Amino acid sequence: MLDALNRHLVQPLIAAKRRSRHLRHYRHLSQTQFDPPELVRARQLSMLQVQLRHAFATVPFYRRSWAAAGVHPDDVKSLDDLRHFPIVTKTDVRKHAAEMLSEAYRGKKLRTKTTSGSTGVPLVIQLDERGAQWKAGCVLRADEWSGWRLGQRVAKVWGNPEYRHFGLKGRLSNHFVDRAIYLDTIGLTDARIREFVAAVRRHRPGLVFGHAHSLYMLACVLNKSGITDIRPNGCISTAMPLHDYQRKAIEQALGVPVTNRYGCEEVSLIACQCERHKGLHVAAESVYVEVKGEGLTGPLLVTDLSNFAMPLIRYQIGDVATLSGTPCECGRGLPLLEKVEGRDADYVVTPSGSLISGISLTENFAVLIKGAAQVQLIQETLTHLRVRMVRDPIFDAESERQVRELVLKTFGPTMTYDLEYLDVIPQEPSGKYRFCVSKVSAEYLKGLSA
Ligand SMILES: [Zn+2]
Repeated sequence: MLDALNRHLVQPLIAAKRRSRHLRHYRHLSQTQFDPPELVRARQLSMLQVQLRHAFATVPFYRRSWAAAGVHPDDVKSLDDLRHFPIVTKTDVRKHAAEMLSEAYRGKKLRTKTTSGSTGVPLVIQLDERGAQWKAGCVLRADEWSGWRLGQRVAKVWGNPEYRHFGLKGRLSNHFVDRAIYLDTIGLTDARIREFVAAVRRHRPGLVFGHAHSLYMLACVLNKSGITDIRPNGCISTAMPLHDYQRKAIEQALGVPVTNRYGCEEVSLIACQCERHKGLHVAAESVYVEVKGEGLTGPLLVTDLSNFAMPLIRYQIGDVATLSGTPCECGRGLPLLEKVEGRDADYVVTPSGSLISGISLTENFAVLIKGAAQVQLIQETLTHLRVRMVRDPIFDAESERQVRELVLKTFGPTMTYDLEYLDVIPQEPSGKYRFCVSKVSAEYLKGLSA
């Protein structure tokens, strides 16, 4: 009853007050998702052509790099023609951020997104309001593939405080608009997990949402305690690979299939599993994806079709994906990714015995340390950490002090650390980055699931 009221009354009112068209977009996108693949591709092509012309006309970075490469937007008559355009790396975005902004959006209010991306490289991305609303519509549509319905409560297992609203106004918005319950994955303790479980039991959310490793940990606690009355309509795992043993534990704990999702802060949602859970449907109205090279598997390149303030075109995100050759049985015309091998990160155990999500941790290190170009954390023992860092020229004594403070604040005074400077953080043989490795947390987590 309350859920329906929220869906049909509260959400539209809030959207109207915020002058956001995202609900309208969501309804439109929900209708067009079953259009045939040819129609989806034709729409993508025309969106791509618009984006390329816009970027050429108003973004100095592309004007320069495309001229150097001898390509022009008018050359693009099919989606495959994009292959001739240069690839944009994270280093490009870091170095040329100002030059990548569209002149058409100068002085306009933009949303700023700060992220460590998917490889521990800190980046700042600007997103225009129209694009943000369109993307929000795409996310809502994909949220519902999990079984959750707009209007139902959400439980989030997440460690990024920007997702959480503070203060009285923030708390009200959280309660009535986002309808979210949070488990902060920075400084996780048994007591906090139990408190969260109590809140979930009280509020009965329709969706449990979080990083794969955090959902797994929650599942271990539920399974171990024999709690079987938490039954959301859906569960979405995101931001990192979902391993099979994790999926099994989560499905046992929540009694619902896990929906695997892939996205990043730079372009928002990229792809998400539907109710069939076979491959991930690309959010084709928001992004165009390809893989580098000739085969179906390779480094993933994303072109943002909906952000015109700072267009990302053939942006190499740092993950490896496999395109699917077969359509999905669900009948949606949106293209499929068979799988994504993204970044992986362990939990870290603090000397006092609480757990910290590796993703949230490296995000903090990459974003908060001045001049940190890329970060990897390795926990050697319960009280010793190796902080591996690629530096920018602006990295200095102040940055070293920030590292010291962050280690102290996060782990307490008994954690020691070495700071290592590298030219590049090595990738795993699979092409994945592991940017938080703990040699002690596996034992600790085993204790949780036993
Ligand atoms: Zn499907």
